[in-house]
Amino acid sequence: VWGKCLHVIQENIPDQSFKTWFEPIRPLKLNGKVLTIQVPSQFFYEWLEDNYVHLLRKALDFSIGRDGLLEYSIIVDPGTERHKPRTVNVPTVKTPQNSKPDNFQTDPRLGSTAPKDQDSLQLDTYLNPNYSFDNFIEGDCNRLARSAGFAVAQRPGLTSFNPLMVYGGVGLGKTHLVQAIGNYIRNHFEDKVVMYVSSEKFTNQFINSIRNNVLQDFTDFYMKVDVLVIDDVQFLSGKEKTQDTFFHIFNHLHQLGKQIIMTSDRPPRELQGLQDRLLSRFKWGLTADLQTPDFETRIAIIQKKLQAEGIFIEYDVIEYVAHSVNTNVRELEGVIISLMAQASLTRQNIDVELAKNTLKNIVMNEEKEVTIDTIQEIVADFFTISIADLKSKSRKKENVYPRQLAMFLAKEFTDLPLKSIGYHFGGRDHSTVIHSIQCVNELMGSDSDVEETILKLRSYFK
Ligand code: ADP
Ligand code: MG
Repeated sequence: VWGKCLHVIQENIPDQSFKTWFEPIRPLKLNGKVLTIQVPSQFFYEWLEDNYVHLLRKALDFSIGRDGLLEYSIIVDPGTERHKPRTVNVPTVKTPQNSKPDNFQTDPRLGSTAPKDQDSLQLDTYLNPNYSFDNFIEGDCNRLARSAGFAVAQRPGLTSFNPLMVYGGVGLGKTHLVQAIGNYIRNHFEDKVVMYVSSEKFTNQFINSIRNNVLQDFTDFYMKVDVLVIDDVQFLSGKEKTQDTFFHIFNHLHQLGKQIIMTSDRPPRELQGLQDRLLSRFKWGLTADLQTPDFETRIAIIQKKLQAEGIFIEYDVIEYVAHSVNTNVRELEGVIISLMAQASLTRQNIDVELAKNTLKNIVMNEEKEVTIDTIQEIVADFFTISIADLKSKSRKKENVYPRQLAMFLAKEFTDLPLKSIGYHFGGRDHSTVIHSIQCVNELMGSDSDVEETILKLRSYFK
């Protein structure tokens, strides 16, 4: 049976993902329609659930049938011989085929009775309790958004941050932050009904409610919540009818002093396809952005993650990963999870070598090329100076040396002509670039620290 499943899975995902996430799984037993599989660790299990739940459902449908169920057994402590299989309490893989269709009418959670009278509503706020303020690392990149979010969480509806709009690129923590707000409110204000919904789901519910002639129930439902968290509102763009309804719900809630929290992948002024009347209301409250985490924050995020999982990794490795992955938090977490999975599979220590290999696979998949921006970011991070300093006219020693090194690396790793490298360093001319490269070459021959630094920096690009 598992062989059949694997077959379906292999057809549907890239080889690398298959190797990493499915080859290590061992089928344990098939009890009637329940298939038990063994996975190497908790992260592994979570990763599968987060990323491959639909695929697993498909595979089960094919190999066992619609009523097939999946059970996980997690190896608790790899490395010792005593594996303690633990059956996680996930009787079935949740998928659309399996659960009720996302249809407004048939979803009891959205029944038309007053939400507060329903016990079930307490459970179905769609909040994920794993997202909290405690595990949201604070850094320069998110300070304003986090503290505004915390203020809102403590006094929902009573601050001037209403609505609160959090925006930022993918994987920067928008969902985490707004879910943390929702969880905090739910835990501290028992009588408040908190509702989290993605804009996509909101739109689908809206469409279904029209189809089923229950639009009134739909709007009533949302008008009764105390805190509405609506994620990724850029998704509403161009959906005029959904926006009309959202507008009414928004006004109603706002008037009653209910808290509204939204996220978007771009600042409101760039939200094309959203009605002006909505955009102007978004500005009533506070708009705060999440930026790409800086080096220190990346280190802290990795450490927190490891600590939460009870895993120890040498600081070199943490530093290496933090230097190499500077896109977003989701990717950073992905790398750490792969690393941990890799280590537990191969019973290897997590060292820089392993990190390099893991990253190579990930990076190679995406065919990343080294750009001058990446070089500047990594060098600036490495010396903890700003990119502006790196490009500036400053003659301070702590800026000059990193700048020369960055030019040297730009020459080595990009195809850019010297003139263009100079241009990217605050408009310097090509003779300055030549001079810089010469300086580094000389230093490299005479100073072993410099040589070591260069080796380390080079390793981030290879
Ligand atoms: P977005 O919604 O902006 O695409 P998410 O909220 O889904 O991003 O975040 C992606 C991942 O990164 C999540 O697992 C989240 O827990 C984690 N994450 C993001 N920001 C932080 C942070 N500041 N501290 C800890 N974890 C974070
Ligand atoms: Mg999100």
